[in-house]
Amino acid sequence: MTLAPLPSAQAELARRWPAIAHAPLPLRVTDVIDLRRGFWRWQVGSRVSAARLPTVERGTRLHRALGGILGPSAALEVQIHRDGIVGQIDALTDVPIELKTTSQSVPAEELLDRRPDAVAQLVAYCALADRSRGWLGLVAGTDAGPLEVSVGEFRVEGPSDRRQVLVHEAGRLRRALTANSPASLPACRWFGRGCEFQQERLCDCTGGEVEERTPVIAGVPPARSVEAIATEWKRAWNGPRTTESTSISSFHELVYPRLAYMEATRGSTEGPPRAPMSGLRRRLSAVLAAGPVGEVTKLLPQAVQAPDLIDGWQGEPVLLRTTHSFTRPTPEEIGRSAPQHALELGFRCAAVGVPNGRLVLGWERAPGNEIPFQVLHYRFEPLGTFSRMWRERARALEETRRDGRFDRLAACPAWRARSCPYQPGCGCPGSRVSR
Ligand code: SF4
Repeated sequence: MTLAPLPSAQAELARRWPAIAHAPLPLRVTDVIDLRRGFWRWQVGSRVSAARLPTVERGTRLHRALGGILGPSAALEVQIHRDGIVGQIDALTDVPIELKTTSQSVPAEELLDRRPDAVAQLVAYCALADRSRGWLGLVAGTDAGPLEVSVGEFRVEGPSDRRQVLVHEAGRLRRALTANSPASLPACRWFGRGCEFQQERLCDCTGGEVEERTPVIAGVPPARSVEAIATEWKRAWNGPRTTESTSISSFHELVYPRLAYMEATRGSTEGPPRAPMSGLRRRLSAVLAAGPVGEVTKLLPQAVQAPDLIDGWQGEPVLLRTTHSFTRPTPEEIGRSAPQHALELGFRCAAVGVPNGRLVLGWERAPGNEIPFQVLHYRFEPLGTFSRMWRERARALEETRRDGRFDRLAACPAWRARSCPYQPGCGCPGSRVSR
């Protein structure tokens, strides 16, 4: 494996940085078109209730299968940042495609009235990507029975004018966040219909707030049904499915197998799920997505057991991480003190069969006048080493789940042991690190 700075990528991101560094934090499309829920997502972080988890997982499987249906010319989960707003388009061919799962099928011509939230999302993506039409696919049903599919094509006049509408809506959300009050924001469409913030009593919504249709879809005509595409997708999703062997459910299990086993068997002590992303991380994510449309996408794994699609930038796997270090670490120090980055990126490269990967490492305590990140290039040769390690770690984890002998699982890097709650019973070599 080699690790070195990547000057051309560093220079490109450094050029984009000032415009994002001094602007308000970027907001997500999903927050801007659904202001009240966006407010609470910022305040308490995203939530997925246990009841909704199977639906979310099914949606993930369908999204992943969509990549196989559309073929290599489609870019998947394309991230794009424009004017302080970040969107993630499910798929991009010559049109942006947004895919939704639902319990009830809806004819394409009725999507505008019955799923305005999903239409608003699609229209926002068209606005960000400067496209004048997009497809909204709705997949109804369960894994037990055949799926129903409708695909509607929406014409989006004046994408750049609509981007201004998005910017205006983003301003409303920013003002509410500054005032620390959602009082000026319209009612949540999901109040009383399974809103996770309401169910967990995290919001102060009463259901009596003013209802408002997002102006992002003003003047958008109803969709035209794209029957041929709906039939093609339906046939593919309802056809014979390959059963994936998924003993590994996340890269976390591959990189920290002993920790993952401890969390699974002794309970996670990580606290509330998915705390809001740090400001630097949000900005770095926006900097990556501020380039040409299609630069930041997910890559489709070739290895059947890969737990997820792989984050990609300019066609290569990318990891975005931040550190609290007081000084900018050199590549040698990163290689020595943070071996987990090489390990995780190596596994991701093995998943897509590409030997090159990139690490964008942010530095939270950088002095104000410095570029607070560096771009590093990893080359993994031979890549087969990581595929072999993947199989060995997956097998060891399976065996440990059966017999409980966790000492066969790779221990974590020393820095993790300093504050690990599973010491000393875990038998970790890092247990001798003073805390
Ligand atoms: S005790 Fe060490 S090996 Fe075990 S989970 Fe903690 S850091 Fe990892």
